Amino acid sequence: MQMRAMVLEEFGGTLKLHSRQVPEPAPAEVLVQVVACGAGLTLESIRLGHLGGSTPRIMGHEYAGTVAALGAGVEGWQIGDAVTGSFYLFCGSCTMCASGREMLCSNNKGNIGARIDGAFAEYVVVPARNLVRIPTGVALREAGIIADAVATPYHIARERARIVAGQRVAVIGAGGGVGLHMLQVAKAFGAFVIAVERDAAKLVRLREMQLDALVDASVENWQADLVAAAEGQLDTCIDFVGTPLTTSTGLAALGRGGTFVIVGTLPGLRSDKNAVISAAPMYLINKELTIMGTRYATRAEIAHSLQLVRDGKVKPMIGASFPLAQAEDALEAIRRNQVFGRVLIDCTV
Ligand SMILES: [Zn+2]
Repeated sequence: MQMRAMVLEEFGGTLKLHSRQVPEPAPAEVLVQVVACGAGLTLESIRLGHLGGSTPRIMGHEYAGTVAALGAGVEGWQIGDAVTGSFYLFCGSCTMCASGREMLCSNNKGNIGARIDGAFAEYVVVPARNLVRIPTGVALREAGIIADAVATPYHIARERARIVAGQRVAVIGAGGGVGLHMLQVAKAFGAFVIAVERDAAKLVRLREMQLDALVDASVENWQADLVAAAEGQLDTCIDFVGTPLTTSTGLAALGRGGTFVIVGTLPGLRSDKNAVISAAPMYLINKELTIMGTRYATRAEIAHSLQLVRDGKVKPMIGASFPLAQAEDALEAIRRNQVFGRVLIDCTV
């Protein structure tokens, strides 16, 4: 049986529509019929070859669908089960995996959609151990943007920054597809949430969301506005942009005992050796500050993110939906920073 798939023929190229044989699951693998697949800047890094893997490659890492076939030896799943999953190819047996930190797997083989074929297709084969069940009450379409865009913020809130009710939390790059969900997750944890954004169109949309506070990062000295918005006590600053300006400003705006969390950096800065985070030792010491990195989420955190959505605490924000064959247009919209909300690829049309 044939399927439609969007293929990256070589790194740096564009996605092309191909007809491919529907893959067969090997032992310990599962074939998933894809309904929806989220898209964000991670894909741009994969497209440029920054996250490893090889070409030709079907991209797409954040998927939701139903189980269509089981490889030999797979237990616990049935045909028709609604599933999403982790896009990391973790081993499941190293010390990090055993301690529930599979995003730090010592034997990580890379990402679905980079190292192995992904979900910009009508079907995808994934390791059975990667799957997470989608609970009743969460639409498959919405589930297509939860496994990364909601789960990554959830991991930050629960495991890294450990946000507690009443804290002042700022999100730099709040208008991005993941930042918008970080705002909601931080709110669900009870924080006073400050959105920081510099794009004029996104600022207009953020204003409509009735957030606790909004800082326009296009103005000079927005650090003072950020400090004022937090009433001098910014507890946590979460940076999705990762430029020298955002990291230095966010760090300088922290209050006593504050935490700076770096989530991402623009694709062009990934290999820029000058893009460092720096702070004077006495500044960190006197305020007892913490600087931390964070990466992705565990399957348990994906499951909890799905529950948050089902319980109405977080609303998946799909900013634009593209048919599978127009996935390249979706990537172009992401590159141009044109979409307010996560981009969704509808793999059923
Ligand atoms: Zn491992």
